[in-house]
Amino acid sequence: QIQRALRSLSIPLERLHIMKGHMMQDMCKGLSRQTHAQAKVRMLPTYICSTPNGTENGNFLVVELCQSQVRTVLVTLYGDGNMSPQMVYKIFDLPEGIMQGEGEALFDFIALCLSQFLAETFSSDSSKSEERLPLGFVFPFTCRQTQLDKAELLSWSKGFSCSGVVGKDVVQLLQSAINKQELCHVDVVAVMNDTVGTMMTCSMEGRPCEVAMVADKGSNCCFMAEAYLVETTDETSGRMCVNTEWGCFGDDGALNDVLTPYDECVDVESSNPGEKRFEKMVGTLYLGEIVRHALIALTAEKAIFTETNVAVLREKGVFTIQHILEIVKNEDGTTDVRRILEVLGLEPSERDCGRVQQICRAVVGRAATLHATGLAAILSYMCQTRDMETLMVNVGMEGELYKGYTSRFEEILMSVSRLLSPECMATLLPSRDGSGRGAAMVTAVALRLAAQRREVNEVLAPLRLSRADLEKVQALMREEMERGLGKETNATASVRMLPTYVTHTPDGTEQGDFLALDLGGTNFRVLVVHVTEDGINMASEIYVIPVSIMQGTGEALFDHIIDCIIDFQMKQNLVTDRLPLGFTFSFPCQQIGLDKALLLTWTKGFSASGCVGQDVVQLLREAAQRKQHSGMQVVALVNDTVGTMMACGYDDPNCEIGLIVGTGTNACYMEEMRNVGTVEGDQGRMCINMEWGAFGDNGCLDHLFTHFDKVVDETTINPGKQRFEKLISGMYLGEIVRQILMVMTEKQLLFQGKLSPKLQTRNIFQTKFLSTIELSNGLALRQIQAILNELEIDASFEDSVLLREVCQTVSLRAAQLCAAGLAAVVEKMRENRGVDQLSVTVGVDGTLYKLHPCFSDNLQKTLKDLAPNCNVSFLPSEDGSGKGAALVAAVASRAANAME
Ligand code: ADP
Ligand code: MG
Repeated sequence: QIQRALRSLSIPLERLHIMKGHMMQDMCKGLSRQTHAQAKVRMLPTYICSTPNGTENGNFLVVELCQSQVRTVLVTLYGDGNMSPQMVYKIFDLPEGIMQGEGEALFDFIALCLSQFLAETFSSDSSKSEERLPLGFVFPFTCRQTQLDKAELLSWSKGFSCSGVVGKDVVQLLQSAINKQELCHVDVVAVMNDTVGTMMTCSMEGRPCEVAMVADKGSNCCFMAEAYLVETTDETSGRMCVNTEWGCFGDDGALNDVLTPYDECVDVESSNPGEKRFEKMVGTLYLGEIVRHALIALTAEKAIFTETNVAVLREKGVFTIQHILEIVKNEDGTTDVRRILEVLGLEPSERDCGRVQQICRAVVGRAATLHATGLAAILSYMCQTRDMETLMVNVGMEGELYKGYTSRFEEILMSVSRLLSPECMATLLPSRDGSGRGAAMVTAVALRLAAQRREVNEVLAPLRLSRADLEKVQALMREEMERGLGKETNATASVRMLPTYVTHTPDGTEQGDFLALDLGGTNFRVLVVHVTEDGINMASEIYVIPVSIMQGTGEALFDHIIDCIIDFQMKQNLVTDRLPLGFTFSFPCQQIGLDKALLLTWTKGFSASGCVGQDVVQLLREAAQRKQHSGMQVVALVNDTVGTMMACGYDDPNCEIGLIVGTGTNACYMEEMRNVGTVEGDQGRMCINMEWGAFGDNGCLDHLFTHFDKVVDETTINPGKQRFEKLISGMYLGEIVRQILMVMTEKQLLFQGKLSPKLQTRNIFQTKFLSTIELSNGLALRQIQAILNELEIDASFEDSVLLREVCQTVSLRAAQLCAAGLAAVVEKMRENRGVDQLSVTVGVDGTLYKLHPCFSDNLQKTLKDLAPNCNVSFLPSEDGSGKGAALVAAVASRAANAME
């Protein structure tokens, strides 16, 4: 019988595995918005989003409501890694009856304790008493917290039942009681439960503690969860400490198959049958009762106490946790066991003593095993949700079961949790000064974070644009567009509004074979494009332009280009044809005709002599003549924005805007000829290459430029030029972020104030990093770490979160400004056409637009907001500069044929 009893108290490993799985499921239920209300494991948010980093300093007051005491503590932190906080304590006993009395009396008493404590502590130092004192309140009952300093009591426990408190905010109750004591300089900044206090107490010496377990009268655990998973709060970035309230685990039956008859008896006799089933197996309030019922059952079966009167066993609570701990600690022999049993009025035999000891060990061992199972569930959950292969974590430990049984408890905790979650490695940290010091830490961290938040906001404020700011940008863009289009004003406009001589978008009837050249993008390419009834297919080849040719003579450059074309036509078996050629030439040109364009200036590393001011098409034709190549006929020179619009226009006839957001940014759109003052004629439309990257070069955007933008501009090869582009495009966003990071580090807001030499290198922070960083939710913060490691930066979790905020701010501004520019364009088109509602498609190209995770969404959302009467679709282009150039050639031939 005794063996059977012992077996029923030991839970097999596979059963523990299943239990761990249930616990993890219940944790998810508790966190999810839909299921949280019914969840047994409540997973209450604590609004504690950071562990101490050691820089906290100042005086912090703590008041802790305990089982039968009020503890007051004054903690002085020195910003020295919290190595040696100074602590002054005073403990007050709760008066008789107050635990069941009126709520107001309880809080008045707490405030009175504080008042006395402060009077004694500060009597000799009157200067200190004027200083504001932040207070942390440790309130170890189940609360629904909605802010760090707002917690509604859900239910009393542990013998408390004061009236008029359930459903009220206990912070407010405490603060009003404090104010009544005329302690107006004391501010209640944070409220927390004891588990959280323990976690924060154990976080010190730069070693964050992210889990805490309290194995006491009740049992509970808290840990730092990814904030976005805590769906019951609005926090989405970073982490938040979650109070699991795991005592209620099993209230839905999940523990039924491991419950023993003794557990059932304990539950039936408790004040809350059916509730807190897990706690009733592991809490020290119940372990004695479990032992008592086991002994009663064994006595009935005549397996124990056959020669003694056992009436005493019928007395509820006769076995205390102290008895049990002493019995199990008695390693060799049973003298203590006998003594304890005799004190209780039993006359045990030697065998009885041994058996009682076995039962006690089994009950306490099971409690430790169950704690380990719960811990394993939390560790595995953390490991999974942080997307890590292995997790190393510190676990703060507190409570009388842990303290009374430390070495064996730790042994079981470690070995069982290792078996259940082998991917996780926990280090147990015993809490030394109770939760009081932790509460001071919470308060200190809260104040540090609030101060830091203010400073971060100050740095980022100039980059955050209001709706009014964006409307102004839109209006200014509109003004510059008009100036660029006007015959007289064109010369002084920052937006050049260059005519392209492209007058039609594709209508889908285009056909034929075309050549295309793409010069000025990331690669130089030659393409052949077959436009058929069934669609477009193409072949292309990338050719290298050696630097010696880029920077040699114009003749050599264009000869080289012709050589590449000849090579390409040979490879493609196109030597005998004379194919129309469209030339995508992504440098600023003054276009005079579709096939006539004067180069205004070289950019992007090109400086071939004798080209600026010349007609680029003519230069290409001359080179063909020199090479006696007649397999091609240059019919059009195309800007890449135009190519993009045309390429998308082939699939969507509504596409009358082209947009590029890549290395640079630019846009084109179909304008009414009557509005184009720089070209003769009033009929029909013409595509205008806006060259909007230069918007603001005349100073009209100066009010928007931040310190960071100015520094970035000054270090480019073209200071003062392309000012709009420098706020938006891929070439600059990374560098803007880097400038912000440097300032934030200087202000000690990031990286503990330490700048790596690498981060001080210009352009080291690539724009593609923004994409990676912004894409990572809690799951992929690892990738942020990888980027930072590459930059030789040692970053904390909070650094990563702040870095992401910086990136988001910069990319959001870029998308919004781009939207403001587009809003001006679509609104002008709508007015041009005299319609209330315009439907138009934008063909888009550029790696930033295509690969950044939020840019396109932000762009579209802002545009919808700024131009509500325009219904704008976005169509990413596929190879606009190849396909588009061919289509310009095709459309040109179609138009020419129509004329004939
Ligand atoms: P181009 O504009 O020269 O034709 P792209 O459209 O490919 O070339 O744009 C290149 C730019 O895109 C680079 O300046 C780079 O900063 C940016 N970029 C590259 N990869 C990414 C990415 N993953 N996310 C955002 N931007 C990127
Ligand atoms: Mg491009």
